Amino acid sequence: MDIEETQEGSRICDSSDPSNGIPARSPFMQAFDLRREQATCDVLSDEAADKNNHYHCPVQGRYVEHVIQQSLPIDVLERNLQSSVKLEDDPEEQWCKRDTSSGSSKRKSKYFNPPKKLPNPKTKTKTKKIIKVEQNQRVEDAQLNLLWKKRGTEIIVATLPSQVKGRSLFIHHTDLRCLRPHLWLTGEIIQGLMHLSAFTYNVVDTIYLMDYYTAGVLLFGDRATTRRHTLPKVNFDNFDGILSFVHVDKNHWNMLYIHAKSGTVYQMDPSPASSELEDSTHAAQRLQEYLKIRKHQGKTDWVDVKWKGGVMPHPVQRDGCSCGVIVVEMARAVMEAFPEFPKMNFSTKRRAMEEARRDMALQVLESSVFDEETCSMCGADKPPGQAPPVTDWIQCDNCDRWFHNLCLNMDQNKLKEVKKRQWLCVLCR
Ligand SMILES: [Zn+2]
Ligand SMILES: [Zn+2]
Repeated sequence: MDIEETQEGSRICDSSDPSNGIPARSPFMQAFDLRREQATCDVLSDEAADKNNHYHCPVQGRYVEHVIQQSLPIDVLERNLQSSVKLEDDPEEQWCKRDTSSGSSKRKSKYFNPPKKLPNPKTKTKTKKIIKVEQNQRVEDAQLNLLWKKRGTEIIVATLPSQVKGRSLFIHHTDLRCLRPHLWLTGEIIQGLMHLSAFTYNVVDTIYLMDYYTAGVLLFGDRATTRRHTLPKVNFDNFDGILSFVHVDKNHWNMLYIHAKSGTVYQMDPSPASSELEDSTHAAQRLQEYLKIRKHQGKTDWVDVKWKGGVMPHPVQRDGCSCGVIVVEMARAVMEAFPEFPKMNFSTKRRAMEEARRDMALQVLESSVFDEETCSMCGADKPPGQAPPVTDWIQCDNCDRWFHNLCLNMDQNKLKEVKKRQWLCVLCR
């Protein structure tokens, strides 16, 4: 092949003789010929010469080689390579080409139109941003670690937005602490995370998030209790589904998902040894009864649906404490896919559960819409119960949280006394 190529090359060389009436070799062509000779000379084996020719020759050189191989007219080379004197790959040349093709270019590419001016790389600001994000993450991580390490208190550490307008969900320090690895989640933290997810996946107006107490009554309550918890202000016709979770066997969480369009009720149990179809069928019967009771009270929403129990594949827990975390993950998957059915493929390995817990705790802290005008103990601007018209407040000198003196069981004398010196709340002591 190399011999042939060399012969081809020499043929073209011969034909470039000015005596044939064909222009003499340009400096580029001469350089190319020289390089080509070097590449295919006897010192290299055929194979090595071939490789050398293909991989070490610059792009323009390979183009020339292609023209030679295909016996294309020599003036193709002269026309296209007039400015390509250099044989080496030259970055300057590429920049030059971009400059000339930009702006004044007559033809527009179907796929890519270069900008008239190449934008300056913004590496500096990007780096700053990344550093800032990393710093923020470190600060948040440090704050979380501090809150996790402290002995549990009843101080509100986050106020989360609720699906019910004008209402907030309070996350107490003890609730946040239960997200630490190997601990069982409280209902408050699961509920808070579900409401946050409803905002994230934009299902606040389509899925009703039933509180876990009412869901428990719906599934397991006696008739009298059920009658007292029929949610008279809620019209289920305004929603396409219900999402909640229930306490089972006093220390285990199940998710409850009601899909209105298909008339299916899912009671989803994170435990691997569960009887989900049975549980879901029971839940469907209970829902039917619940809606009948509502009908007696004048509510006719969803009453004509024939409800059935269903099962949906989902990951299962591998420890004895992460049922709540899995319920939150399952609820997220449902909301993300709603109204379609979700594919649940999150990991429940130990490491994944630990990471999920940390992410959830950080999400709670970051999403807090805490109002500084409210008390960090009761979450309200006025103390609960029969409070006097004028309320006394005290602020922590470390975290700046405000408290009603009444919520701290602090009488006027004690208040006067502590105001004289530095005062720290139970979280900062
Ligand atoms: Zn208070
Ligand atoms: Zn404090």
